[in-house]
Amino acid sequence: MSEKLNVVIWNEYRHEKHDEVCANIYPEGIHGCIKNFLKTDESLDITLAALDDTDQGISPELLEKTDVLLWWGHMAHHEVSDELVERIRQRVYAGKMGLIVLHSGHHSKVFRSIVGTTGNLSWGRDQKEIIWNLMPSHHIAAGIPDHFIIEEEELYCEPFYIPQPDALVFGGWYEDGYIFRSGCCFTRGLGKIFYFQPGHEYCRSFYNPYVQRIIKNAVYWVKPADIGYEIPEGCPMIVTKATDEFNK
Ligand code: ZN
Repeated sequence: MSEKLNVVIWNEYRHEKHDEVCANIYPEGIHGCIKNFLKTDESLDITLAALDDTDQGISPELLEKTDVLLWWGHMAHHEVSDELVERIRQRVYAGKMGLIVLHSGHHSKVFRSIVGTTGNLSWGRDQKEIIWNLMPSHHIAAGIPDHFIIEEEELYCEPFYIPQPDALVFGGWYEDGYIFRSGCCFTRGLGKIFYFQPGHEYCRSFYNPYVQRIIKNAVYWVKPADIGYEIPEGCPMIVTKATDEFNK
């Protein structure tokens, strides 16, 4: 890993180009907005990537040096190539890259293939949401109060068809009475994944300081661990190595 953490923010980037309301909220794109609050951290080297870019935004060379990938997609999940999804999955499973999946990314091929379920949920009108901090001791909850309010966010509600999260850090409550598992941590292989629910394209959630802090914290939680040795492809043969050492 280089000294700086290489962060790639991938955005489908279609709504902002074709929808005036969305373009007014996110004139630099959702990924540009996320970059603007992450770049205050000088230890991050940030690259923007979009579906319509060459290699769908993520060339093999770029992926090879990516430590943390953020993913926002909605209406074009099916256009993302299976080959790219597989390369991302392999890198996460190998513990070489962490993944943060935002909002409607719950239905992305990347999220579904990595956590292993449909990611289905129910949704409804935009409304006020309270995000409850369920795990104040968790790294991702650092600096977050017991709850905070998002004035307008798209209703997502249970049941959310995900595997049981390894940690459920945030829960959402909506004014229509529904609840949702809003901030979920998963580990897959040697990799870490964080799913975070706010971020509808017609809402201003990415300007919320607590949403921003959570995403910043998540970058550092999902980043690859310093394992200290190279994990070989396939079976690592740890038993043989340990025995050799013991018999010296
Ligand atoms: Zn949405």
